[in-house]
Amino acid sequence: MALSLAAMPFESRSSGPDVSFSSDAMVRGGLILLRVQGCESDDVQVVWMGKEIPLVRDREGTLRHGFLAADLNREPGVYPVAVRDPSSGFEKYFELRVNDRDYGVRKIRLPRAKVEPDEASLRRVKAEALAVNALWKAECRPPEWEGSFWMPVNNEIVGAFGQRSIINKKKRSPHTGVDIRGKTGAPVRVSNSGTVVLAADHFFTGKSVYVDHGSCIFSMYFHLDQIRVEEGEQIEKGGILGSVGATGRAAGPHLHWGVQINGARVNPLMLIELSRELDP
Ligand SMILES: [Zn+2]
Repeated sequence: MALSLAAMPFESRSSGPDVSFSSDAMVRGGLILLRVQGCESDDVQVVWMGKEIPLVRDREGTLRHGFLAADLNREPGVYPVAVRDPSSGFEKYFELRVNDRDYGVRKIRLPRAKVEPDEASLRRVKAEALAVNALWKAECRPPEWEGSFWMPVNNEIVGAFGQRSIINKKKRSPHTGVDIRGKTGAPVRVSNSGTVVLAADHFFTGKSVYVDHGSCIFSMYFHLDQIRVEEGEQIEKGGILGSVGATGRAAGPHLHWGVQINGARVNPLMLIELSRELDP
């Protein structure tokens, strides 16, 4: 169908979709919710930090949303977001700020063998790292998650996200998840629907479950006492994937819960908070 230009309000062609952000700034290890509205075509693209951000439609199909995430180690600064709709020629740039944040320090004492692996354990650690990295390299899968993300164990946080770690008086990598208090054997529930992409017993993280929620959102559950799911299994939000334990490099029973979005390691509690806005 041909439409004369005169019949079409000029604004609807030039202004394009309505793009909004939950904030114009985040901390490193944080995230922002993006909404795109009033765009009929399916091929609207959002690019942030060199990656296309997967967008998910709401139930009515009129609104699309996605998360812009800054890795815990992201250099503070201003980063542009490009929003494009090739079918209408719409293109617009926004600027989002990533701020620094002092997450503090945690000091832990652990048995030496758990911190400084011997030759055989080091080989094991390397193989395990390869298996985990393969997950991050895969293409983003269609979304299985919907609405808000839930706490996997309803209990207090005993180890905050982002803390620099001093283990046995040596500097180690920062804490990329939250530690939740829990008794050995207490059920651990998946934060949102997804597919189990890795379920294994690893040297540092112990019995571990990695869930792919689609649209490049992953959640990880470490130090489990028992794993109750298998790789390839689909699991519904709130379903039990295992139980709290102290396997791997853990000083005592707790759940380490981590989240990765588009390759960025972010604070899972921020995902819970922001995703609440997506519940009907
Ligand atoms: Zn932890």
